[in-house]
Amino acid sequence: MIDLNHGSGCLYDQATPPATIASAVSAAIDVALVARNRSERPRTYVSSSGLGRDCLRQIQYDFLAVPKDEGQEFAPKTLRIFEAGHRAEDIVAGWLRIAGFDLRTVRADGRQFGFEALGGRFKGHIDGCLVSGPVAMDYPALWENKALGASSWKDVVKRGVSIARPVYAAQLALYQAYLDLPKPALFTALNRDTMELHAELVPFDARLAQDMSDRAVAVVRASEAGEWLPRMAADPTAVLCRGGMSAGKWHAPCAWAVKCWGTNHE
Ligand code: SF4
Repeated sequence: MIDLNHGSGCLYDQATPPATIASAVSAAIDVALVARNRSERPRTYVSSSGLGRDCLRQIQYDFLAVPKDEGQEFAPKTLRIFEAGHRAEDIVAGWLRIAGFDLRTVRADGRQFGFEALGGRFKGHIDGCLVSGPVAMDYPALWENKALGASSWKDVVKRGVSIARPVYAAQLALYQAYLDLPKPALFTALNRDTMELHAELVPFDARLAQDMSDRAVAVVRASEAGEWLPRMAADPTAVLCRGGMSAGKWHAPCAWAVKCWGTNHE
């Protein structure tokens, strides 16, 4: 048989390609993903997507684009997961549309719907707005989607997004408030492993929206004044800083832990 891919390393009739070609392709992609990520300009605003995190100091590091500790930049695998999550939005939006929902995801000029406050230093962009549809629910309604790994997805299905993922709930409340969409939001979660779709209606929590908005103001004002916001942990051994499970909640290791505890920040 002629090998049309001569030099590719691929052998006909061999079920799996040799590890060398698999790792070479992955490595090439990883290098490109990391380079692309590094070339992106850091955000210059407080993003609604991270405001529900526990530690205000951490949110402030993010807002000020303080470089993460060595080795704490996003790993290539994480960058792939982020991208898959982003693209999952389009998949689920397509499913909703063919099901008969009138879903608006972009403005006439192609930009996402969103809001801006504090002179552009606090922003958020929504996944979409459902104007009408074949399901009995109140319209217009905010639509927000997340793609989750199997265990996170099961947790959201079991406990609901507000308890299982308070960071997402904070995001929803802010969008409902700033986009003036007070009807219950439709939250969908796509299981990345099985492609099952979870959906739930999340009532507007005005108190949560106000608290989150106040946090954004606190981060921006403190940063303008050159002050550091308080740490949420008493010492660096806290789960919040080093990462792990606490009270049924997973915390990723803080990407600024060394800076936070190794500097003279009061
Ligand atoms: S190391 Fe801990 S206290 Fe410091 S910013 Fe991170 S989470 Fe907050």
